[in-house]
Amino acid sequence: MRDLKVTPIKNGTVIDHIPTGMALKVLRVLGITGDVNSTVSVLMHVPSKQRGWKDIVKVEDRELNPKELSKIALIAPDATINIIRNYNVAEKHTVALPDRAVGILRCANPNCITNSREPVESVFLVRSKEPLRVRCQYCDRELEDVAGHIL
Ligand SMILES: [Zn+2]
Repeated sequence: MRDLKVTPIKNGTVIDHIPTGMALKVLRVLGITGDVNSTVSVLMHVPSKQRGWKDIVKVEDRELNPKELSKIALIAPDATINIIRNYNVAEKHTVALPDRAVGILRCANPNCITNSREPVESVFLVRSKEPLRVRCQYCDRELEDVAGHIL
């Protein structure tokens, strides 16, 4: 029997070590909502040596940009990113949560300048990574539901 878990892809990105249950959030962050041309495979609740269970997302024919990697770091801080070219792992990255999250989160404060019509890019300061706590640089409000406010 073929093991679907190790089915290789020719070109694209494999996002591994996603906390189990977060794969669909990763898809949303990447804008993968059904209207895409590439094949996307989602493996949920896969045994993991490190933490019991994990999710894996494979996106064919697409390499992620730094902004997308920062967004993934917000919901899957231990994720690893494998860039596949011609069936080989060409690059391997761990995602890293930046100290300042620029332009990737929406402030929950409706009166914040970043939510006005001004063209002000949101900036959140990462106060703690474990557990994740971020605060808006402009209005000082701490963001409660980080995953729900990813742009
Ligand atoms: Zn704010």
